[in-house]
Amino acid sequence: MALSTLRIVWLYPDLLSTYGDRGNLLVLAHRARARGIDVEPMQVRSDQRVPATADMYLIGGGEDGPQAVAAERLLDDGAVIRAAEAGKPILAICAGYQLLGESFYANGRAYAGLNILDLRSDRGPSRAVGEIAGESAPQLGIGPITGFENHGGRTHLGQAVQPLARVTAGVGNDGATEGAWAGHVVGTYMHGPALARNPKLADLLLSWAVGVDPASLPPVDDTWPERLRRERFEALSAAQ
Ligand code: GLN
Repeated sequence: MALSTLRIVWLYPDLLSTYGDRGNLLVLAHRARARGIDVEPMQVRSDQRVPATADMYLIGGGEDGPQAVAAERLLDDGAVIRAAEAGKPILAICAGYQLLGESFYANGRAYAGLNILDLRSDRGPSRAVGEIAGESAPQLGIGPITGFENHGGRTHLGQAVQPLARVTAGVGNDGATEGAWAGHVVGTYMHGPALARNPKLADLLLSWAVGVDPASLPPVDDTWPERLRRERFEALSAAQ
């Protein structure tokens, strides 16, 4: 592997950390170590500088107030914007996803986002709460996606991003598509945590960080993640 130590930044646990989103860090660390890659997880609070030298950046979900504060601090800091420009993988969940766009709505008004992804978010007619599933973009090779969503915002994609998935259950961006990606930046409404429920997405992010083809990563035992996925998809079809 080109990389001996993978430095993963988990951003702003003091502001953005709902529904076990920190689990994404644990999943990445586990799957990297299983491939013989050392991992240095770095939890960076919102009163700290964001390291410029990490190999991957994770941003979780959060309520409107903390989301607005996080966006302002990340804009001030600038390191995540530069990391995106440098092609570093970024995974952003829900509030983290919205704040990567041009603007988002919180506390009854619009806020500027980091403008890393060509999208903007406003408010929907009701909160989207519950299971979400979808057929992911075939180019990503990650199969059907599964997660849990809880958000009031709706997201409108511009030309420079692709939807992460076509929605088969739940709402996602707007009831038709879910999440977005461009280059090595992925945003999604999936909590759950997303990578525990979508291990192929975890491996895709790892492969981008390490600079290898995802197919060249040695397999890991996915008995439990596969059981979890089956159970979640079955629960959805039973409810329909
Ligand atoms: N505050 C945002 C919304 O309600 C994001 C919520 C979340 O991260 N779960 O749309």
